Amino acid sequence: MTAENAVLIPRRSEVASAFKQQGGLVAAVLPIHYPRALLLAFNILPMEVWGPPRVDVSLGSAHLQPYVCSVVRNALSFILGGGLDVADLIMVPHACDSLQGLGSILLDFLPPKQPVIPFYLPRGGSQQGEVFFAEELRFLYQRLEEIAGISPSNETIMKSIQWEEVADELLARLHKQRGRLQFKDHDFYRLIRTREYLPAEDFIDIAQSIFDADYEGQQEGIPIILSGIVPEPMGLLKTISEFGARVVADDLACCGRRLYPAGRSEDPFFRMAERILGGPPDWCRGSPIQDRLDHLHRMIDATDARGVIFYNVKFCEPELFDLPDLRQGLGDLGVPTVSIEVDISDPLSSQATTRIEAFFEMIR
Ligand code: SF4
Repeated sequence: MTAENAVLIPRRSEVASAFKQQGGLVAAVLPIHYPRALLLAFNILPMEVWGPPRVDVSLGSAHLQPYVCSVVRNALSFILGGGLDVADLIMVPHACDSLQGLGSILLDFLPPKQPVIPFYLPRGGSQQGEVFFAEELRFLYQRLEEIAGISPSNETIMKSIQWEEVADELLARLHKQRGRLQFKDHDFYRLIRTREYLPAEDFIDIAQSIFDADYEGQQEGIPIILSGIVPEPMGLLKTISEFGARVVADDLACCGRRLYPAGRSEDPFFRMAERILGGPPDWCRGSPIQDRLDHLHRMIDATDARGVIFYNVKFCEPELFDLPDLRQGLGDLGVPTVSIEVDISDPLSSQATTRIEAFFEMIR
């Protein structure tokens, strides 16, 4: 039996219902970075919303410019179509202008039935950034206090942080040891993306069961790195496997860019801030392009990847701003790259499939 057959991946809707039945609340959380531990300390389960891909996009399109990305368009469509009715609040981190625009629409023009909480990240990893972010988290605490009607102590928040740190440590191990686990890419990403909606304890149980079982093997295939926002449509991952390649590491906003290190501070707000700000380089925290390039280069060195696929959501400006320099920098290092643009609602086009196949032929 392989690991992918043995692991039962719970559905988001079931997890949300079960959490609510036990008296908890659910928060719909837009990309990218936010303090999971703080929400869970309030007994609020974060359910991340990266699109989703299969929605009636006409609902959101009626209120957005046609050049807004499909992640935001689909999220608005999903909210307007009642897909997030299970949520007791909606959190919109200010990762990019499109998400900030979505926050404004929800706050000022199309208010949903739930409270909407915008959330700001500092740009740059300076000490002032950490102070600002810890303050922002304290402010968020007050909003959550009003909504949940409870006031968790620092000790409760710290316990929640420690659960998250254990879960993130296991998540990092899964990333690192993926080549020895018998998961095809599609199943591996279904597994690690449960971090987007499972309470830390449940994720820990699943991850631990994988390490406890004797699933070790060695994956074959052309090693590649995947960069971008989110691996949707997830058919991409099946295409990669069918063409004889495998993802050995990623720089995806929903996955590898959120491998947060454990914190050190004894103050829970500073600890949550330092964890998020200490994550891998990301434009939405103001990381210089050179840091991203160095990070990709280190990943390539560590995994012997033969190339990088930049898998970008159409109209995702922040990714597009960095793309030319990243491709140029990798090209200078002799690393082949290919850039594919997608609308997360559409299946992978035959043109994109052909380009991926040609890329693998080139680096084989
Ligand atoms: S895909 Fe890009 S533009 Fe769209 S919400 Fe995500 S980061 Fe922002």
